[in-house]
This record gives sequence, structure tokens and C-alpha cells, in this order.
Amino acid sequence: MRLPRSRRWVESTVVCGNCGAADAIGIRLRLGEDTEVDFHSCHRCEHRWWDAEGEVIDLTTVLDLVRRR
Ligand SMILES: [Zn+2]
Repeated sequence: MRLPRSRRWVESTVVCGNCGAADAIGIRLRLGEDTEVDFHSCHRCEHRWWDAEGEVIDLTTVLDLVRRR
């Protein structure tokens, strides 16, 4: 089956820090005026993580950023 080409949220693929799979996805989310975080999800090991400006942050930090809006 051929899926229509769509621009979804998937922006890029990154290497999973947990299992090393090279096809973990990265999704950029904008949380405020000038705050952007990337959500990453690996479909091989289901490892999920966030980072902001290249630094891994935990979910608590993400929620803080959301709340700060
Ligand atoms: Zn993984």
C-alpha cells in the first residue's frame, strides 16, 4: 500500500542513546516564545527522551517549561 506523502511532525532521525538504533525519530515542539524542545522516540527499544538545545532534559523540566508560558 502506498501512503500519501505527508509532512507530519517527524523532522529528523537520531541515534538512540539506549540501543544505538539509527532511526529514532525527533519531533520539535515549541513551548513558548523562544523555547523549543525535541522529543525523541525509539521504536526499537521504546526509549523516549527529550532535549533542548542539544542537551538531554527530563520530563519534569519539560513540564516546567510548559507551565511557564
Ligand atoms: Zn532504542
